[in-house]
Amino acid sequence: MTMSMPRRDPNAPVGAIARTSSEVSSRSGSDDVSVSFEFFPPKTGAAEDRLWSAIEKLEPFAPDFVSVTYGAGGSTRERTHRTVERMARETSFTPAAHLTCVDAPRAEIDAIAQDYWDAGIRHIVALRGDPTEGIGERYQPHPDGYDYASELVAGLKNIADFEVSVSAYPELHPESSDWRAEIDNLKRKIDAGATRAITQFFFSPDIFWRFQDRVLDAGLDIPIVPGLMLQPNVKGLQRMSSLCGVAVPDWYIELFEGLDGDPLTRDMLTASLMSELTAELYDRGVRQYHLYTLNRAEIAGAVARVLGMHRRTQLVR
Ligand SMILES: Cc1cc2nc3c(=O)[nH]c(=O)nc-3n(C[C@H](O)[C@H](O)[C@H](O)COP(=O)(O)OP(=O)(O)OC[C@H]3O[C@@H](n4cnc5c(N)ncnc54)[C@H](O)[C@@H]3O)c2cc1C
Repeated sequence: MTMSMPRRDPNAPVGAIARTSSEVSSRSGSDDVSVSFEFFPPKTGAAEDRLWSAIEKLEPFAPDFVSVTYGAGGSTRERTHRTVERMARETSFTPAAHLTCVDAPRAEIDAIAQDYWDAGIRHIVALRGDPTEGIGERYQPHPDGYDYASELVAGLKNIADFEVSVSAYPELHPESSDWRAEIDNLKRKIDAGATRAITQFFFSPDIFWRFQDRVLDAGLDIPIVPGLMLQPNVKGLQRMSSLCGVAVPDWYIELFEGLDGDPLTRDMLTASLMSELTAELYDRGVRQYHLYTLNRAEIAGAVARVLGMHRRTQLVR
């Protein structure tokens, strides 16, 4: 794992941030900008109600696509499937199903993919997945399974002509020995048929630029879509980041100090910081953004508005 890089002058005036964001909003006009929203399948009835209420609020932003994450284990799989199919049936979204290689033989994964195709789902986010024992544990491929995401991409393309998105890691995947291994892996996934890479979340635009340079230097030519984590719980964020090999800058953590009992301000701060990050990315040509919504509409909606997506509001079902 690499770098922890202060990207922001802590003494910079707040006005500078606000100006950048509003410039994006007024400039973009939303025509050339697209967003995608990521959700996770809810576990309880109450969580399901929250998800569908968030979906209703986010639908007017007309995202390019939405995706639903996938965990190993029968019930989680079933929840992903149900959520994706309901989105396809009841919303104007184009849903993409995440699918992993974890704990299943190829035949089982192929059957799930075939079911998606038969249900009209044409886009899969193809991943290796994390060990069932938890992130950071040693990954053990299933003896009859797909070993890596690149193999899964090839398997999916054998089943049907899915649109396939894959992951990318601007701060290195924790199991990659070096940048060469990382970029070679991305190339394998592209060679197998992936047409978009969505990044792990990050906090400094410099991290994204450096990664994009590595991708371009390797001659890889697919959109690298930045993934933006809209997590206002900074303690949870730190835990997850350290497991995923993502550096959360000290200045970012410091901004949340003293806000444990103040969720509203944490939400506002997260929306503001992620809007600022999108503004910086926009300034240097990024036009596609993937928002990790955590099944909530408020922060994702605010960031989407800064990107001008509210001007697309001409929906509905
Ligand atoms: C956008 C996004 C969405 C995600 N969604 C989910 C989800 O829904 N469910 C879930 O469980 N997890 C999800 N994850 C997490 C992901 O499953 C983990 O990060 C996992 O550890 C790696 O998956 P991958 O697809 O990136 O793996 P891969 O691309 O297969 O790479 C995994 C590691 O293996 C190495 N490697 C690959 N091929 C070889 C080879 N032939 N020889 C040696 N080493 C190799 C790579 O360099 C890398 O270090 C997501 C991550 C991202 C960025």
